[in-house]
Amino acid sequence: MAFTSRVLLAVCLGLSVLPQTRAQTPAVPPAGTDAAINEEIVIGSRILAEFGVLDGFGHVSARSPTNPNHFLMSRSLAPALVSADDIMEFDLDGNAVDARGRSLFLERFIHSEIYKARPDVMSVVHTHSPGVIPFGVSQVPLRPMFHNAAFLAAGAPVWDIRKDFGETDMLVRDPSRGKSLVQMLGDKSVVLMRGHGDVTVGPSVKMAVFRAYYTDVNAKLQSQAIALGGDINYLTPGEGIKADAINFAVIDRIWNLWKMRIAPSLAK
Ligand code: MN
Repeated sequence: MAFTSRVLLAVCLGLSVLPQTRAQTPAVPPAGTDAAINEEIVIGSRILAEFGVLDGFGHVSARSPTNPNHFLMSRSLAPALVSADDIMEFDLDGNAVDARGRSLFLERFIHSEIYKARPDVMSVVHTHSPGVIPFGVSQVPLRPMFHNAAFLAAGAPVWDIRKDFGETDMLVRDPSRGKSLVQMLGDKSVVLMRGHGDVTVGPSVKMAVFRAYYTDVNAKLQSQAIALGGDINYLTPGEGIKADAINFAVIDRIWNLWKMRIAPSLAK
């Protein structure tokens, strides 16, 4: 191929036509480190923003793999803008270990109180996803429409901040509101928040993100099924347990697809 043709092809593929003088692939943090989990928080935040589950608000956090009494979460920032340098460390009372003047999410107590009460939870996602809002304010329970939302078969309770706190700004801005929310979450994977959004939890960042995404998808599908009219044939609790185990086993397939969508250079 002539030199000019090679240059044209390289430009079309987005490749550099200049000689490479150093490695272009960023270093991958070792598994099990805070740095590796921080990267998952960044990717999870950007995935949920890309697909409209998060907008300017909402957050993804993870329990620290090196200190289970701490968790990792971005400084106050829109999820699509989060990078690894923005991730901070917090104790289980929601105090920043080293704030250095950075502003914090008001609703970090959602995360701190869940990590305190649920040792099995390694990641928490809070969203205001549009699909779930109707199920937080109506009398219709969110129920599993399909296998990807199998975790909903265990139940998706609705937490109403007004019951414990009267008329508020709706935000989980202190530990007592976080504790009240966690009581309603119980041992479930998701809790809806009246007039606000939802929280999903999981044994990994990938699973908590997966559940946030499919809670929103399921809610939209369920609204469509209700609009069709007639009885709806939801997944049974037994089907939910079996299907959720499969989702857990194949999580990397969709995670890698999502990762490619948000940043092709990150895809393996
Ligand atoms: Mn919120």
